[in-house]
Amino acid sequence: MAHVVTNKCLGCKFTDCVLVCPVACFYELEGQLIIHPEECIDCMACVDECPVHAIYAEGDLPPEFQSDIEFNATEARRVKESGQGAIEKKKGSLAERRPKESGFGLLNVESLDLTPVPAPRGWS
Ligand code: SF4
Ligand code: SF4
Repeated sequence: MAHVVTNKCLGCKFTDCVLVCPVACFYELEGQLIIHPEECIDCMACVDECPVHAIYAEGDLPPEFQSDIEFNATEARRVKESGQGAIEKKKGSLAERRPKESGFGLLNVESLDLTPVPAPRGWS
């Protein structure tokens, strides 16, 4: 048994939860956090820290969030094996960070290459 982050976390990422975890078992995806099931010690400290109540003990998960058990397990193992460490510090929201970190900002039309591509032979 472990604690599980449900998809209610999607888009939050204010990450109050990670500050109270004594074993640093939260990992970060693009849109939400997940808990590594082999690292969580079920201390329950994070549950009340989450403003949207996205975290449940596995045994208390409502039926609509059952798939999040496998999602947390699979993704947490994958992220950890990729070399990404646990998230231990509070961060700003995804909406605030995304343009800076990922380079997704406003489209700069002047930087686009608008040169016409020649049609393949036999097409004209
Ligand atoms: S506080 Fe809740 S919604 Fe926010 S990142 Fe943590 S689990 Fe997700
Ligand atoms: S239940 Fe405890 S150990 Fe598990 S993720 Fe929450 S704070 Fe960390």
